[in-house]
Amino acid sequence: MSDKTAVSCSWCGATADPAPVTWTVQTGARGIEYLCESCTRDNVRKIEGSLPTEWW
Ligand SMILES: [Zn+2]
Repeated sequence: MSDKTAVSCSWCGATADPAPVTWTVQTGARGIEYLCESCTRDNVRKIEGSLPTEWW
């Protein structure tokens, strides 16, 4: 288990191994979260609409 690289999208539950570069990694209150490519697009839209200064 120590070199497990699989990740799962925290929104839709999609999994990938290893995490594709198109996925977003963000650190939140619950630790590191991954967003898959399609959820990233939705997330960017929401963030750009509400919290532009929080996006990195
Ligand atoms: Zn997703």
